Amino acid sequence: MSSGGTTGAPKLSWLPYDLGLERQCQEWNPLDASSVLLNLFNPGRLWGSHYYMQELARISRSVVLPTGPFEQSEIPNWIEIFLRAGVNTLAGNPTTLADFAESCLVHKLNLPITKIIWMAEPWTPQKLESIAMAFPETSLWGNYGAVETWVMGTSTPKCTPNVLHLLPEHIVECHDSGALISRKSNGWAIPLLRYNLGDRVVPSQCKCGRGRAIRVLGRIGDTVSLRSAIFRAEEILEIVRSVSGVSDAQIVLSGKTEKNTSASSITICFTTFYESRHAQLLGETVRRQLVTSFVHMASILTKYPDALHVKCVDNLIRVDRTNKTPMIIHR
Ligand SMILES: [Zn+2]
Repeated sequence: MSSGGTTGAPKLSWLPYDLGLERQCQEWNPLDASSVLLNLFNPGRLWGSHYYMQELARISRSVVLPTGPFEQSEIPNWIEIFLRAGVNTLAGNPTTLADFAESCLVHKLNLPITKIIWMAEPWTPQKLESIAMAFPETSLWGNYGAVETWVMGTSTPKCTPNVLHLLPEHIVECHDSGALISRKSNGWAIPLLRYNLGDRVVPSQCKCGRGRAIRVLGRIGDTVSLRSAIFRAEEILEIVRSVSGVSDAQIVLSGKTEKNTSASSITICFTTFYESRHAQLLGETVRRQLVTSFVHMASILTKYPDALHVKCVDNLIRVDRTNKTPMIIHR
C-alpha cells in the first residue's frame, strides 16, 4: 500500500492480507452482518483507505458498495441503488462525507444512515453540522493511522469529536519533532519501533471516560512563517472558523522564499453561510480577529501592509487524489 500523497511523494508499505484487522476488530468493530457499507474512499494508486474498508466489511460479513466519492449531480441517479441495497453505513474522510451529506440535503434525499466510519483528516464544526442535519440518526466511528503504520487509534460514538484512543499494545511518545509510535507485531498490521509520524499528537481527555486518549493537532510542518514570525496553521484556522458566518477556511501561501512553509504574504480563504454581498464585511471581521488574536500580526502588518489578505471563496482547494482539504496550500 502507499500513502495518498496528500502532502508529499507517496511512501510504500508492505502489509499482510488481513491488514491487521482480525486483531483490530477484537478492540473496535463498528460493522456487523446487518451493515450495508457505502465505501466513499477512492480506489487505486495503492492508496490504503479504500482497501482497508473493503477488508473491514469482509471480516464483519457486511455488504459493501465500493463506489468511491460522488459528484453532487450524480446522487439522484444513484439513490435508487442505495435504497434498494439498504445502505445504512458510510465510510470516507470528513470532506467527502460532508459533501455527500450536503448532496443529500440539496436533493432532499433521506438515507437511513446509522453509522459513519471516518479517518484521514479532522472534522470541522461545519462538516459535523452537515452530517447531523442529513443523517440525524448516525453515530461516528473514527480511525487514526497512516499508511506507514496502519491503524494506531480509534474512537466510538461515545467519544469527544476528534479525540481518539490508542489501541492496546501501542505506545506514542509525544515529541516536538513529531510523535514516535511503537507496537509489537502480535497480529497487528506491522511492527513499529519509534517511527516518527510527522504528526503533532498530545494527550487528551475524552467524554467516554476511557484512557489513552489523544488529539492529533496536525502535521509537524503545518506552521507558517510570515515575515519571520511563526504561526500554527490550526490556530489561525480555528480563529477564522470562530467568526460568526464563516463555515470553513484555508491558508494559501505565496511568495518565493527558501522554505516552502515561509511566505512573504498569506491569504486566508474562507467560505461563508451568508450571501455574497456580506462577504466583504465578513472578510474585514476575519482580518480584525486575526490581528487582535496574535501578538505579532499587528506589527507585521504595520511594516508590511500587504502580508495578509483575506478572501471569500465559493470552495476551498482540495487534493484530487484523496479529496482532502489541506490546511495549507502552496501556490
Ligand atoms: Zn473516547
